[in-house]
Amino acid sequence: MEKIFVMNLGTTSFKFKFYAFAGEDSQVLATGELESIGAPQSHYDISYADGRTISEEAPIADHGAAFAHCFAILQRDGVIRDLDDVTAVGYKAVHGGNLSGTCLVDDALIAEMERVTPLAPAHNPIYLNAMKDIRNRFPKLTQVARFETSFHGTIPQERVTYGVPYAWQEELGIRRYGFHGSSHQYISQTVAKLQPGARRIINCHLGGSSSICAVLDGKSVATSMGATLQSGLFNNNRVGDFEPFCLKPIMDHYGYTLDETLEILSKKSGLLGLSGVSNDLRLVLEAAEGGNSQAQLAFDTLCDNILGYIGMYAAYLNGLDALVFTGGIGTNSAPLREKVCRNLGYLGLQLDADKNAGRGDGIISTDGSAVTVWRLKTDEESVVAACVRAYLKENA
Ligand code: AMP
Repeated sequence: MEKIFVMNLGTTSFKFKFYAFAGEDSQVLATGELESIGAPQSHYDISYADGRTISEEAPIADHGAAFAHCFAILQRDGVIRDLDDVTAVGYKAVHGGNLSGTCLVDDALIAEMERVTPLAPAHNPIYLNAMKDIRNRFPKLTQVARFETSFHGTIPQERVTYGVPYAWQEELGIRRYGFHGSSHQYISQTVAKLQPGARRIINCHLGGSSSICAVLDGKSVATSMGATLQSGLFNNNRVGDFEPFCLKPIMDHYGYTLDETLEILSKKSGLLGLSGVSNDLRLVLEAAEGGNSQAQLAFDTLCDNILGYIGMYAAYLNGLDALVFTGGIGTNSAPLREKVCRNLGYLGLQLDADKNAGRGDGIISTDGSAVTVWRLKTDEESVVAACVRAYLKENA
């Protein structure tokens, strides 16, 4: 039986799922979430397959310490025997530059992730620190990374290419990579099972971080994020697509440095910057309903952004069989889905108002709709775990 510990790291958060595989079957033995890493006390909740749950606090300095702590807790609670009981750890790693797919964490991988850190400055350092720290603490543990860029390796070259001097692409790798690959892959595989005839799928992964992906015959053919996670859709607090020639006037007017300007564009823009209310769509909608016109504009702009990508991707796909909403916003916000779909009648898409207002995985379009609309929960960790397992088998 193989056991794989999958990690999904945020700036101050650490989420994990611990999988056991036997033949075709897999089981999640434990799932956990640690918050406030680096604070004097971090809080964590862990659930076990047998229904036990724990909710505890401990001082946890960083992500390497978080792994060590979870390992000790899982040992204490009888879920992990010893280090040999963990076949590998798997990372939902972000930017691998020229590396894509599933790769062993070794010196070459670390060097390549470090090289492209300027393209993912908020994400790669967290993973790099954890990989190095866990290697020091547990030198015998096999570490494998599944990059978030992976699923997008099938996008045609003309669609990953920017209109910049060709040498920039050749020498610096300035091109579109795309992210959220594990989520887009999971949804593509799930729709293939649920709606076998669906060849042309658009997946809207809308959450704390958002991107849209066009899938043809199970392969990504377009996605909204680019060389970095900052481009494409405007996100909860990221600007999304933006005009680079506005940087200078902003800096000149406000006296900001480039770093300060980029910080605002990546942390204080999007829903938060536009609404002036929150980066949480629930609060933005509440404010809009209360008559706040900036909040209304933020919601309208987000919906319009999504609609524009769907239109572009329906053109790339030459039609559409399935439209999926996933992520915290995609699965929970009926008003957003309603507003986006209102303008898609030209594709023969008809949303079912009652089904849209409901909850849980399922179809939310009418029986007669030419495009099947789905509300589906994503499961990125399961993709990482399966890819790590496949990698270990291929490289045994
Ligand atoms: P995720 O990163 O996929 O977990 O999504 C988190 C995001 O989902 C947060 O930004 C929340 O604002 C958003 N969200 C959760 N529930 C709702 C809801 N009922 N309506 C709108 N947005 C929601």
